[in-house]
Amino acid sequence: MSQNIFLKGIAASPGVAIGQAFVCTLQTIVPTRRELPPTQLEAEVSRLYEALKTTEGQLAHLRKKLPADEHGLILEAHSLMLEDPLFVDAAVNTIREEAVNAEWAVFEVTQALLSRFDTMQNAYIRERRADVKWVSDRVQKNLDGQVFDEEEDTFTVPENSVVVADELPVAKAVFLANEKNALAFVTQGGGQTSHTSIVARAKQLPAVVGIPTLLQRIKPGDCLIVDGGLGEVCIQPDEAALVQAKLKQQQWHAQQIQAQHRAHAPAVSLDGHRVSLWGNMEFVEEVDTLLQMGAEGVGLFRTEFLLVGRDNPCSEEEQFWAYRRVLEAMQGRLVTLRTFDLGGDKLSGDSLEKFLGEPLEKEANPALGLRAIRLCLSHRELFRAQLRAALRASAYGNLQIMFPLISHMSEFYEAKRELEECRSSLSLQGIAVAKNIPVGIMVETPAAAWIADRLALEADFFSIGTNDLIQYTLAIDRQNSQVAYLYHPLHLSVLRSLRHVINAARNANIPLSVCGEIAGTPKYIAMLLGLGIRSLSMAAIQLGKAKESVQNTSLAQTQRMMETVLEKSSTEEIDAFIEAQTNAMYAHLKP
Ligand code: PEP
Ligand code: MG
Repeated sequence: MSQNIFLKGIAASPGVAIGQAFVCTLQTIVPTRRELPPTQLEAEVSRLYEALKTTEGQLAHLRKKLPADEHGLILEAHSLMLEDPLFVDAAVNTIREEAVNAEWAVFEVTQALLSRFDTMQNAYIRERRADVKWVSDRVQKNLDGQVFDEEEDTFTVPENSVVVADELPVAKAVFLANEKNALAFVTQGGGQTSHTSIVARAKQLPAVVGIPTLLQRIKPGDCLIVDGGLGEVCIQPDEAALVQAKLKQQQWHAQQIQAQHRAHAPAVSLDGHRVSLWGNMEFVEEVDTLLQMGAEGVGLFRTEFLLVGRDNPCSEEEQFWAYRRVLEAMQGRLVTLRTFDLGGDKLSGDSLEKFLGEPLEKEANPALGLRAIRLCLSHRELFRAQLRAALRASAYGNLQIMFPLISHMSEFYEAKRELEECRSSLSLQGIAVAKNIPVGIMVETPAAAWIADRLALEADFFSIGTNDLIQYTLAIDRQNSQVAYLYHPLHLSVLRSLRHVINAARNANIPLSVCGEIAGTPKYIAMLLGLGIRSLSMAAIQLGKAKESVQNTSLAQTQRMMETVLEKSSTEEIDAFIEAQTNAMYAHLKP
């Protein structure tokens, strides 16, 4: 019987790695609490300001060494924390009110901030706690007079290392991912949307995150097998496990090579129909992976991810550079920039208020509240800055702009009017903007689906956001695990909505794609192709499998399948039928 110890975590980035544990803990610096006489307090406050200034200088230096994409921008956000009243004023007040040393004040304020992070609902924001800790530790070190050690941020990672950490702040994750000796990441904290995961996926390093007891179980130098697809880490594996892991690693590499070969072959069905496969992206850095995996364009750029994790507006200039970088990298391929989908499940509550610089009314039903285009139309400065940045960037590639959560004709008219005004003011300023920028909408509410025939007369293209379309059609909160069992893409109402939108786009002769999660899942791909969809947009990692599915699908067969499906009534019946049909279609393909 095998004695191997397996730790289970979240599968953050697929692939298999075998290497030695390189444990890099972010130690919490616990300073000594010293009480100070009143006469020394102002000198202590000055000492704190001095340390903040030194830290800012160090961050500026570090920023220069990072690519000017979102990781550079996040370091910018780190710097802004050094000016944030929640951090700075709170520490100064603690020195004055508690008559304590600056180190202790910084420690106390950081602990309070970290515990607020722990209770945040939004996983992405919660996972930014590592960044707060990193900035705070740096201030502590500067108070302590420790010399800034650049090497500390770059590490010298020994060959064949698996990086093991409690949490990795973004700067460290980027440096480590660029280290050729780092084979994989394993972290105690984090989730699917933490930077460790995002950077690992973008750099195609296997990663497992969120293993609660990780640091108690792994010692530096332990041999580890990391299976990023299964979300599993094996500690000190025996010979048999090593042989098996090496085999799996070879298979994974072979599959990747096949996927990359396929990446440059068109997705053509068995009966000769061309299907376009596009990429979804959240972070600027992902654009390179999308290209590598053969994305024919960007079908969905979730631009709101430029803003999460920061408390201050993202300036027009910062946005311009981010959009320009994506457009240039895509070398003429179409990039679909979705305007900010803020509010609801994305960025809400405290962080959104801080970001907007004004309080928002509490919402009983955020998913039905001030979200996406609704929020942008009620915060014009924010909207205009984004539209101007996008229009300016349009001169550097092939851009189309898409508005999320449209449910009224008037919202679309108003959004387009704002876009035209921005275009006119840029032209008055003599700033170049592309002549033809298609403007479309996401169809993701039942309202939009049912007036799709009218919207299609005004829109240059549609993209169906099935994640939300399903949520709103079935009245199921997509975040609520208690009703997750009711969230079903194959409910007849969803299929009928899809069919209605497809017909509307076809009659108006406008391009249509699907960019929700189902667009990258083989079983649903067959369903979408059968309904008439010919363009799908998905995460980079899904592109290879999706292409393989298309190449092994007969569209005529999926059409017949969907004709039968639309005669059925219950979701279970439909699901069982599609499952049986797709299992038969793809039985010869590797899982
Ligand atoms: C969708 O709703 O399907 C979609 C792609 O948008 P998001 O998941 O960002 O809401
Ligand atoms: Mg959506």
